[in-house]
Amino acid sequence: EDDASQSFGLPKDQLLGGLLSAGFDKGSCLSRYQSVEYHKELLHKPSSYLISRLRRYEALHKQCGPYTESYNKTLEQLKSGHYTGPSECNYVVWISFSGLGNRILTLVSSFLYALLTNRVLLVDPGVDVADLLCEPFPDVSWFLPTDFPLKNQFNNFNQESPQCYGKMLKNTTISNLNRLMPPSVYLHLVHDYDDHDKLFFCDGDQHFLQKVPWLIMKTDNYFIPSLFLIPSLEQELMNLFPKKETVFHFLGRYLFHPTNQVWGLITRYYEAYLAKADERIGIQIRVFDTGTGPFQHVLDQILACAMTENLLPEINRQQHIISPSGTNKSKAVLMTSLSAGYFEKIRDMYWEHPTVTGEVVGIYQPSHEEYQQTEKLFHNRKAWAEMYLLSLSDVLVTSSWSTFGYVAQGLGGLRPWILYKPENQTAPNPPCQRAMSMEPCFHAPPFYDCKAKVGIDTGKIVPHVRHCEDMSWGLKLV
Ligand code: GDP
Repeated sequence: EDDASQSFGLPKDQLLGGLLSAGFDKGSCLSRYQSVEYHKELLHKPSSYLISRLRRYEALHKQCGPYTESYNKTLEQLKSGHYTGPSECNYVVWISFSGLGNRILTLVSSFLYALLTNRVLLVDPGVDVADLLCEPFPDVSWFLPTDFPLKNQFNNFNQESPQCYGKMLKNTTISNLNRLMPPSVYLHLVHDYDDHDKLFFCDGDQHFLQKVPWLIMKTDNYFIPSLFLIPSLEQELMNLFPKKETVFHFLGRYLFHPTNQVWGLITRYYEAYLAKADERIGIQIRVFDTGTGPFQHVLDQILACAMTENLLPEINRQQHIISPSGTNKSKAVLMTSLSAGYFEKIRDMYWEHPTVTGEVVGIYQPSHEEYQQTEKLFHNRKAWAEMYLLSLSDVLVTSSWSTFGYVAQGLGGLRPWILYKPENQTAPNPPCQRAMSMEPCFHAPPFYDCKAKVGIDTGKIVPHVRHCEDMSWGLKLV
């Protein structure tokens, strides 16, 4: 046992200070035990309360998970279409929706919501989730059974569906709903949701939803910052996360263990190109402009950020050879992008010219898939491997608005330099800014005061929920 830890010297804390449960078979998911060898040590320790709540969740999941007696019983209510009183087990069903980065953020959001409301999270496997992620909970699967009654409606659920909570509120009041008590409700928390859907973030509505056995959720957003603004959840969240900016970091490290297929992609790449460098720098390039890159203004922006923030050394265009002054330090730069253009230009730059410091800079990019192909297996394996590899950096540069970058920074516990979004094909000045925290940004938060029933700037209510660096109307935990 523990060959890996022996070869690195001291045995490491494979269970991350108690964050992970010990009850798993090692071979079926190597990343769960080996990731500690690749990641830096956790910056903060998970609170003992978080750890005890996770163990309590696991016990609930075991009691209520797919095909347990309680599951079958609660399913009967759903099939009959009639609410027959409070059930032992209540559920959040997560619908697989949107790009991989978005889905990783929404899995954390749904899981934390389930934890806070004593529900069990069941995951629609979509086409690829089981191919990418190991089971996170011991003993009982988190995957929604394929014979789940509403499954073939998932794709069609939208704001107009009669089961949609926001839609229900357009036609009736909560007190009427309390009398009707549906056994299931569809929660539309997609970025295009409206004011009625957003009432999800109000205490009164949470009070009603608490009684509904099946909540079916479709979202593409990291909605946790707004959970911190719901008075009835506030204290529990403080207890779970004394350091607020660690929410995604801890829950992400708890939930997301790459399958052996993806772990192979990660570890082979890491050992071959990154392991031996003195410093690892991740640069994540995501261009939301239309038209095919690479764009000169984006290349200029990357280099301007890396040079002004001293992340990469300048080159000397006059001399052919510069002998290093002190030790010959090496930097490995891991770039990720759908196109190869930026990588090729920067790689050539450091080949054709010496650095002024004498440092050796290697530039690497695992793939260039050209365009987003959400439904293809190997495409998303590579995307997941690349997010994970970025999270193993010492220093990280990310692109504005990209959930792909948020996943990397959160898993890695890194406060990245964020490249501002270019406007009108022009690189902004300054090109980048250091993030306030490692947390992802909630791109579509509600701006509503549930008590006063008026609009309000939800980024100005408490000091730990603020507007994001990369999206002025977004919210993030700091
Ligand atoms: P976002 O659109 O940047 O917020 O990130 P998402 O992950 O939600 O969606 C983008 C999708 O495009 C990813 O899931 C990948 O499938 C693909 N993609 C985007 N950038 C990259 C990249 O740098 N490498 C790879 N392999 N895929 C990428």
